[in-house]
Amino acid sequence: MKYIDEFRDGDLARNLAQNIVAAAEPGRTYSFMEFCGGHTHAISRYGLVDLLPRNLRMVHGPGCPVCVLPIGRIDMAIDLALTRGAILCTYADTLRVPASGGMSLMKARAGTGGSCADVRMVYSTRDALQVARDHPRREVVFFAIGFETTTPPTALAIQQAQSEGLSNFSVLCCHVLTPAAIRTILQSPETEQGPAVAIDGLIGPAHVSTVIGSRPYEFVAAEFHKPVVIAGFEPLDLMQAILMLVRQVNAGRAEVENEFSRAVSREGNLKAQARVAEVFELRREFEWRGLALVPHSALQIRAQYAAFDAERRFQLEYRFVPDNKACECGAILRGVKRPQDCAIFGSVCSPENPVGSCMVSSEGACAAHYGYGRYQDRH
Ligand code: SF4
Repeated sequence: MKYIDEFRDGDLARNLAQNIVAAAEPGRTYSFMEFCGGHTHAISRYGLVDLLPRNLRMVHGPGCPVCVLPIGRIDMAIDLALTRGAILCTYADTLRVPASGGMSLMKARAGTGGSCADVRMVYSTRDALQVARDHPRREVVFFAIGFETTTPPTALAIQQAQSEGLSNFSVLCCHVLTPAAIRTILQSPETEQGPAVAIDGLIGPAHVSTVIGSRPYEFVAAEFHKPVVIAGFEPLDLMQAILMLVRQVNAGRAEVENEFSRAVSREGNLKAQARVAEVFELRREFEWRGLALVPHSALQIRAQYAAFDAERRFQLEYRFVPDNKACECGAILRGVKRPQDCAIFGSVCSPENPVGSCMVSSEGACAAHYGYGRYQDRH
């Protein structure tokens, strides 16, 4: 299949691996963060770490949408479905993210707490709109999560609901922004042992960048003097991006380069950006799991569309809830720890019984390591 087969070619992968080994200078170490959960999954799935030299380390970042959702936000969604009587629609992985008191949207639907919530998995915002059309006497809330990739469809859904007069439809908006999270990680305070996260360069997200373009990462090079290479999701995309990062580091360069030029431009998708700007505005701050309160890192619905804002409509208040004490998701999302550093990884916490959010989605660092890397830990 075009754009798939040629990016999974074994001979080319071996060739790229040899080039990376040859380019990596023996006297130095390289630490690169892949921000995006899709990249985390691909690195684990294709065993790319096995092809890299020992002095090159990949660090997982916070770019998995359900992983960074704090417990308090899941609690708000459960409250809407359980106590406000709304039909709660959301994407599949969100259903399984652990919330307060051992609950999740899935458990709320199953009646674990005593009464059953009406929670529905949808594949798209169009599905959620259809639920609202089919149930005109019920409140229907779309629990909107994700980075810049999933924001344009939410904006369109709100405008569609307005144009149809769908007065029973609203959105619990939890859309977050990539550049603000990158800035927070790069500004992480020094510890006695050195920087909290030592990063020599970043692999920029693929899908997010198709929407926002490569321009929003230019501050990483200008202010922090770190190179960024935007990469596609196929294994050869990632290998090529790693080679480009190694070459930049060796040359002392810090630039934004675009390996994923078949889909990403510097300006991004201007039409999608315009739609998003019509419907959303920046939140002053937003809590991320692992990163705490990050200024200007999320979106809220503009006053013009207040009727479709579930937070206003139901007068919801966000409440901070600490993570499970045994869970290391916060440190993993900051790149400070790895899944295998968590004492309950693979024992108490598994994809069948996730204790933290990083074990829920296939893009989560813990789920990816559980699926593809855990047996290597034993050797
Ligand atoms: S293994 Fe489970 S509990 Fe541990 S950090 Fe990962 S998700 Fe959290």
